[in-house]
Amino acid sequence: MTPLDLLASSPLAFAVCALILGLLVGSFLNVVIHRLPKMLEREWQTQARDILKLPEEPKGPAYNLAVPHSACPHCGHRIRPWENLPLVSYIALRGRCSSCKAPIGRRYPIVELASGLISGFVAWHFGFGWQAGAFMLLSWGLLAMSLIDADHQILPDVLVLPLLWLGLILNTQALNASLVDAVWGAVAGYLSLWIVYWLFKLVTGKEGMGHGDFKLLAMLGAWGGWQVLPLTILLSSLVGAVLGVILLRLRDAQTSTPIPFGPYLAIAGWIALLWGDQITASYMHFAGF
Ligand SMILES: [Zn+2]
Repeated sequence: MTPLDLLASSPLAFAVCALILGLLVGSFLNVVIHRLPKMLEREWQTQARDILKLPEEPKGPAYNLAVPHSACPHCGHRIRPWENLPLVSYIALRGRCSSCKAPIGRRYPIVELASGLISGFVAWHFGFGWQAGAFMLLSWGLLAMSLIDADHQILPDVLVLPLLWLGLILNTQALNASLVDAVWGAVAGYLSLWIVYWLFKLVTGKEGMGHGDFKLLAMLGAWGGWQVLPLTILLSSLVGAVLGVILLRLRDAQTSTPIPFGPYLAIAGWIALLWGDQITASYMHFAGF
């Protein structure tokens, strides 16, 4: 019996392996969430200087997802491999830098745990196969872009667009939807929010959401077909209304503070992709159709 046979025959073994993989990926997602926005900002600044014909800034040290090595932001202590084990190190170090004892952000273990639990759950939900693998990849992407959007109000194209294409490519094999439904899902996903954006702008003169939101909904449509869109929009408004009220209370912010819509779309889309059929069926049953 090969290890692959074991994973295929035991849903529990597959879920546990996926959970461990998810923890490790979560550790990398922390790097992406922290560094990608800074990398993009540097790139935009360089482009802007180029267009404005400003002199080039002196080149600083390289900054990307691989370098510099992770270090404590307080004392510069370089994180050693054993201090970088997802979740385990945080618990072993009791949430403090091993050198200066400054507290480590709670966000890091939470993202790792979330990534692990989501991956394990996806593996359990779909069982061993391509669909589970594809959905894990999608879930990691959604997790990273949600937190980047929450922090910086941007949904990076470099995350959203490759996943949009991947959804269409996977559905050439009808992984979640037929290719025709997936293409119309992408088109309708983009256009529906584009229309809302322009109506809102014409009526109020303000921009209610970013273009990244159109692309994100297009991506979800590409994965699940146009059928997932109504439920995604409905659920995201519900999630957004509930969390939005809580956040407004917590932040004591003015109503004009932009609340990123991306995380709500991501959560709603993920739910709609996994349980859309059941939710719609039980609603129909409940409504007496
Ligand atoms: Zn330190």
